[in-house]
Amino acid sequence: METSLDIQAIRKDFPILQRQVNGQPLVYLDNAATSQTPDQVVNTIVDYYHGYNANIHRGVHTLSQEATDAYEIARQKIQNHFNITHSYEVIFTSGTTHGINLVATGFTSFLKKGDEIVVSAMEHHSNIVPWQMLCERTGAILKVIPMNQEGELLMDAYHDLLSDKTKLVFCNHVSNALGTVNPIEEIIEAAHKVGAAVLIDGAQAAAHIKPDLQALDVDFYTVSAHKMCGPTGVGMLYGKEEWLKKLPPYQGGGEMIAEVTFEKTTYADLPHKFEAGTPNICGGIAFGAALDYMNSIGFDAIAQYEDELMQYATEQLLSIEGLRIYGTAKHKTSVISFNIDGIHPYDIGTILDKLGIAVRTGHHCAQPIMDFYKIPGTVRASFSFYNTKEEVDILVAGVKRAKNMLV
Ligand SMILES: *Cc1c(COP(=O)(O)O)cnc(C)c1O
Repeated sequence: METSLDIQAIRKDFPILQRQVNGQPLVYLDNAATSQTPDQVVNTIVDYYHGYNANIHRGVHTLSQEATDAYEIARQKIQNHFNITHSYEVIFTSGTTHGINLVATGFTSFLKKGDEIVVSAMEHHSNIVPWQMLCERTGAILKVIPMNQEGELLMDAYHDLLSDKTKLVFCNHVSNALGTVNPIEEIIEAAHKVGAAVLIDGAQAAAHIKPDLQALDVDFYTVSAHKMCGPTGVGMLYGKEEWLKKLPPYQGGGEMIAEVTFEKTTYADLPHKFEAGTPNICGGIAFGAALDYMNSIGFDAIAQYEDELMQYATEQLLSIEGLRIYGTAKHKTSVISFNIDGIHPYDIGTILDKLGIAVRTGHHCAQPIMDFYKIPGTVRASFSFYNTKEEVDILVAGVKRAKNMLV
């Protein structure tokens, strides 16, 4: 593969890639579920617990100051990475699901019966269920942007769905089940023309694309650190200042208040209004380290290399008779969802695991997509910049072997 990246050197940063599974070298192709964690991030976590573990924003003592400084520097790293105007527009969350629920709950008081919320047909469950709950609370109506067989949104239908009743639009930047990169620029611009706010779920995109949130002019954008070389249990919600000021707090507790009496509590300034309780301090700092790590490799090089891996894997897999790929959009990231005629995806996944190959099987938290294709699920191989062409060959050989055993 033509790449400026030294993949073998990069792989040394990920000791887990050296291990064996069922007596075979691990081939990790489940990056869309969670990415592996490089030593640079693991060391950040160790340094924190060895050196300056303390609660933040509270103590006058040195450890607390050091922890607070490191946590706030991580917030600035996130701000810079996503090109966000103010660091207080970066809300630390436990992940994408938390960020979406924070917004969906906050919108309860802004919606009335008959208002409309538009979501795409290829959403993760975490981007469907909170809106259904919001509709139940408010009497708002959920409208769905349909998609075609390739797994691309029908944008004409989207424009037809929009009206002055539309208050919110929700869409993922990249589909975790199909890999489709959605035209979010057009989605955001059209929604704003009818006065609707837009939340983009960037959980799947952020490992491959470095979005410029100011240029996108999006109202909310949410990611999880664990999909981009960081730890689990931490993520960020970006919100435009004007929206974050209007939205009510999500949870009550310590850290989020300015003053408390039994008559009335006033809330802290942004971002603390949305950060009740002791946060995942170490996780936030490690998230910053993960961004440093990925930026040191470079997102352009990552995107180009992953695209080559995906093209190669697509060609090789399609040479297997009876294999169908779901999600063939013109713009997609390195996710390949597939099935083989007459074989249940779970059976393929089980045999691949015996061969040391980690893929995901099932509905990928996106049952409506599976219903659309009338299938129970797919086998999903998702690639990262630390995967190799040789690993693609091992996958393809494994799938051929599984097919021979199962038909
Ligand atoms: C992973 C993922 C989520 C959920 O992320 P959590 O970290 O589990 O909260 C939501 N949307 C998409 C597109 C995802 O890929």
